[in-house]
Amino acid sequence: MFKKTLGIIGGGQLGSMLAQSAIKLNIKTVIISDDRKSPAKNFADEFIYGKYTDKKILNKFLKKVDIITFEFENIPFDVLDLMNKKVRVLPDPSINKIIQNRYLEKNFVNNLKIKTTKFKYIKSEKDLLNNLDLIPGILKTCMLGYDGKGQIVINSSKKIKKIKIDFKNEYILEKKVNIKKEVSVIITRFSSKKYEIYEPIENTHKDQILKYSKVPSNISKKIKKQAITYAKIIAEKLNYIGTLCVEYFIDKKNNLYVNEIAPRVHNSGHLTINSHNVSQFENHIRAVCKLDKIKTKRIYKARMINLIGDDIRKYRNKKNKKNQFFFDYLKKDIKPKRKMGHITIIK
Ligand code: ADP
Ligand code: MG
Repeated sequence: MFKKTLGIIGGGQLGSMLAQSAIKLNIKTVIISDDRKSPAKNFADEFIYGKYTDKKILNKFLKKVDIITFEFENIPFDVLDLMNKKVRVLPDPSINKIIQNRYLEKNFVNNLKIKTTKFKYIKSEKDLLNNLDLIPGILKTCMLGYDGKGQIVINSSKKIKKIKIDFKNEYILEKKVNIKKEVSVIITRFSSKKYEIYEPIENTHKDQILKYSKVPSNISKKIKKQAITYAKIIAEKLNYIGTLCVEYFIDKKNNLYVNEIAPRVHNSGHLTINSHNVSQFENHIRAVCKLDKIKTKRIYKARMINLIGDDIRKYRNKKNKKNQFFFDYLKKDIKPKRKMGHITIIK
């Protein structure tokens, strides 16, 4: 048994699901979050409210934990690095430094000889006008984007002058891919060449937010293999410990591109709670706490539906069938485009 205490940065749905897996593994958790209403406080042994940039709060957290992980990657690198000097942070903060920034992230992937979409670094309107070949495209902030936030779709070069762009931020302009399918590969790396890998999950987005996921994915064996191989190469190169997700695009010509990497558990892997013997959350905790690696297997076919904004209302009082699992993230306020819960249906 792991007698130490796991610290988790962030108290949203991912923090909640991590904490629930920790309960299953008899591991104590302390969660730190700057959101007083964090749903994960329902599952943690202890909840610390406050900003991790506040030295007093941070020290309180550091005193209580033996190992630290996080539910989201956008924690300032300096903060993570400072924590890591006192208590080990896994995955290693140096990984966040690359992945927090879409430009560095895509260059990192390309340097591994793995394709991404075509992109260019954009810092001014002039840069945009010099890269009209990438339009139709998507302008994405280099930092802090998620669930489609920080993205502007540019369908025609004539629109550029009309769009309000805050050039205090850095951007990349990415060529729009003619997407046939999106898939993700979730991999948990325990140490050098030791992995558990989930088969590719097929994802459908609406308005740039994940709406549906399913396993098995309906893609060719060849692409499945390629997607898994790339995920292994990426995890190995990052010397990664824990669960990581690689998001991919497959275009109409069956080219496979890495879209982005999430150095954490991922929404598309929520179905692993019900479809597999070991979920992505449990595997993450097993890896960062150095527990045994269990051969991970799919037991059921599954599909997941994200409940976004008002979707949640009709499910809160609904009775579920035996093969349907409803997850309410217990967020206090319903907001449009906010992930409020999900349902997984197994077969
Ligand atoms: P986020 O960090 O918000 O998840 P992504 O870059 O993954 O940002 O974009 C979210 C979704 O938007 C993708 O899953 C995809 O459906 C769509 N999208 C993003 N970039 C492109 C692109 N270059 N071409 C086509 N669709 C895209
Ligand atoms: Mg994404």
